[in-house]
Amino acid sequence: CSEVAPHQQKDSVKVAVNIRPLITPELLLGCTDCVTITPGEPQVQIGPHVFTYDHVYGSKSSPSSLIFEQCVHPLIDSLFCGYNATVLAYGQTGSGKTYTMVDALKDGTEYLIRVSFIEIFKEEVFDLLDASHAALRLDSGYVAKAAAPSRVPIQIRETVNGGITLAGVTEADVKTKEEMASLLARGSSSRATGSTNMNSQSSRSHAIFTISLEQKKVFSASDKLACNDYNILSSKFHLVDLAGSERAKRTGADGLRLKEGIHINRGLLALGNVISALGDEKKRKEGAFVPYRDSKLTRLLQDSLGGNSRTVMIACISPADSNAEETINTLKYANRAR
Ligand code: ADP
Ligand code: MG
Repeated sequence: CSEVAPHQQKDSVKVAVNIRPLITPELLLGCTDCVTITPGEPQVQIGPHVFTYDHVYGSKSSPSSLIFEQCVHPLIDSLFCGYNATVLAYGQTGSGKTYTMVDALKDGTEYLIRVSFIEIFKEEVFDLLDASHAALRLDSGYVAKAAAPSRVPIQIRETVNGGITLAGVTEADVKTKEEMASLLARGSSSRATGSTNMNSQSSRSHAIFTISLEQKKVFSASDKLACNDYNILSSKFHLVDLAGSERAKRTGADGLRLKEGIHINRGLLALGNVISALGDEKKRKEGAFVPYRDSKLTRLLQDSLGGNSRTVMIACISPADSNAEETINTLKYANRAR
């Protein structure tokens, strides 16, 4: 493997911003575009604010394949060298997180072996591929799902080597892109969704689609003589579709939604703290404390954020003036991550 180990690279976390185009509902409301890209620079301007990132994508100038080429492909390369990798989609509901994650997956599926798909909802981890829940979910709405006694949360475990595993999670063998796409679709339909003013299918949970790769490496003839003819190299690739980052008050949330909002923000807050601790090179060298244990999200990603792993955060934003306040919040969060 020609890859430089992630911990020896300058930044183990890269941050990109993806500005989706104005969508029909925004156009119908008469929204105008308030976000501009500085030509030739990875820089975004909104009102008086200017932010610089590793990459900035706006749909007019950059096809989505460019995000894959520049952000996701390098991670897949390092996956083949045995390093874990994480792609995070951050942003308010409706900003294009799911769209971006599904796109990221489409091209990257050729060499993959096993997948699992979970969601973190109100600080509990649920298996989205658990077949015993599928039938139940088909005809039940949000409340029934959340209250269903058979939806048992799964536990996060840490191995002696510091690896993170999920006790009893479904791991599906996949051989083709189509199999992977159908598992993604099946799991997505099981995600907890609740209506808010922002978006009727608003995602109130963090969803993590994990692709585990195991490679058998054949070494030299002398190794073979020593009966050490192969070694297993395993690595994990997480595609993380985060819950909407919007502030609770703006979604007009009632009591229940508001409580969920607090749980969701706990994950996003912890993630921000972890990534900013990892991004601070000086602190990193001093072996500063990284607060992984502050939420289920960061705990679960502990062996795939920082250390010997590569991470890309794609902050998704709407260009609409009506979303300017949340867009600035997202750009600030992403800026802190850098
Ligand atoms: P989120 O997951 O952040 O809530 P979605 O991914 O569901 O947001 O996107 C919200 C809407 O915007 C969807 O209708 C989606 O099809 C549309 N959309 C998102 N990104 C793009 C894009 N790059 N080009 C065109 N439409 C997009
Ligand atoms: Mg979504």
